[in-house]
Amino acid sequence: MQTQERRTYQAVIGLEFHVHLATQTKMFCGCRVTYGEPPNTHTCPVCLGHPGALPVANEKAIELGVMAGLALNCDVSQRAVFARKNYFYPDLPKGYQISQFDEPICTGGYLDVPAGTPDGDETIRVGITRLHLEEDAAKNVHVGTSGRMHGSVGSLVDFNRGGTPLMEIVTEPDIPSPEAARATANYLKDILRAIGVSEADMEKGQLRCDANVSIRNPDGSFGTKTELKNMNSFRFVEKGIAAELARQQEILAGGGRVEQTTLHYDPETDEVHELRSKEFAHDYRYFPEPDLLPLELSRAYVREIGDRMPELPDAMRARFVGRYGLSPYDAGVLAADRELAAFYEEVAAEVDPKQASNWISGDFRALLNESGADLSGSKVTPGHMVELIRLVGNGKVSRSAARTVLAEVFKTGEGPSEVVEREGLGSVEADELDGVVDGVISSNPDEAERVRNGDKKVVGFLMGQVMKATRGNADGGRARELLLQKLSS
Ligand code: ADP
Ligand code: ZN
Ligand code: MG
Repeated sequence: MQTQERRTYQAVIGLEFHVHLATQTKMFCGCRVTYGEPPNTHTCPVCLGHPGALPVANEKAIELGVMAGLALNCDVSQRAVFARKNYFYPDLPKGYQISQFDEPICTGGYLDVPAGTPDGDETIRVGITRLHLEEDAAKNVHVGTSGRMHGSVGSLVDFNRGGTPLMEIVTEPDIPSPEAARATANYLKDILRAIGVSEADMEKGQLRCDANVSIRNPDGSFGTKTELKNMNSFRFVEKGIAAELARQQEILAGGGRVEQTTLHYDPETDEVHELRSKEFAHDYRYFPEPDLLPLELSRAYVREIGDRMPELPDAMRARFVGRYGLSPYDAGVLAADRELAAFYEEVAAEVDPKQASNWISGDFRALLNESGADLSGSKVTPGHMVELIRLVGNGKVSRSAARTVLAEVFKTGEGPSEVVEREGLGSVEADELDGVVDGVISSNPDEAERVRNGDKKVVGFLMGQVMKATRGNADGGRARELLLQKLSS
């Protein structure tokens, strides 16, 4: 009964993202945007919030906002207004954040999130409510033991981050599961990277995600939502929402009511904790920023940005399916990473595109993941990959030996042929293989006889013997062909 009841719950999830924009300078002043530099070395009267300092909107940030909006199929507003969002916090010396409120830069878009498996090609359409520009707060640094004031030296503020450009993206509550939420966050990252709007690295805090979570009422209407704050990895987005849904389910199953609260997910315990309840709901007293003019974004300006926009992951995916004959899933894996896709295209121009996809999405990507290196730091060049795939195609190296070769090229940057030579990984030559097959047949007469009598299952056993005798360096296809040929009469 309990489990049946569980299954009838329907999750409703909406996400809010904060994205660091890839600009050189801050949102409203000329200070450089930096990471990990000594505290308070990139500040000026504007981003320190001195009275009377005047903000100037960063043109590049506006352009990146428009690009992101176009990539998310939004309407770009012809007029957008910056507004003051008033609240007190030690990392906000002005006492307000400059944001956008009722006239954001973009509204009403959508994202078709790939939710496919290797055998499917599904997407989930997630509505984009709005996208707006704002500035980040500075950073409080708590010095001493476990961040508590007792026994700690105190709290310091680093203003390097203060005033850096942020984009907020709010989705509609269209997301049906924790897995789909993770896929949405991940796909958004792919898009933002592809168009160069942000590196969107969650671990570096360049992409932050809040999740609004509720369970649909039995009559289909929305239930009370809670808000999970600041999850900093894709895995935690999924696990945090799952933990919160489980908590809500338990409350509802016990006849209770979900309270509207703000929560924090603790990955260590896999539990959510309350940060603040709605009693502390803010009233930000937004009003238009008097020191900045409204943005006027002409149709021509927006069109010009659209014309310059790099290819989006879904367009690239469709192109790879059409041009290279890849499955949508395989094409999607490559298109999700612009650099890997460029690497792929160089290789696919020279060898069989499907083989190229298998090697690059499979073994090569696994090596990259294991080592934590990114493509630009890898020693494997497209030329190496072409050479390796040709060695396999010509039967010079077996598939399994080629894996070893690739791992070695990855480590040393040597050419595949040199590695084959040095490690003695070359395939057993044709006449040698012929001899090995003869040897295996004569030392396994019973099995050979059974194959002659049509028992094809035993071929596998004989193949195993051939591989053993050649230490895995035989071309499997050819060895099998030879065996069947010799045992056909
Ligand atoms: P608030 O006024 O609390 O900020 P909004 O209506 O602005 O709420 O929505 C904020 C976010 O919450 C959006 O991402 C939206 O999709 C999501 N959301 C709204 N209602 C629900 C709900 N019942 N369950 C889950 N998410 C919701
Ligand atoms: Zn500054
Ligand atoms: Mg809201």
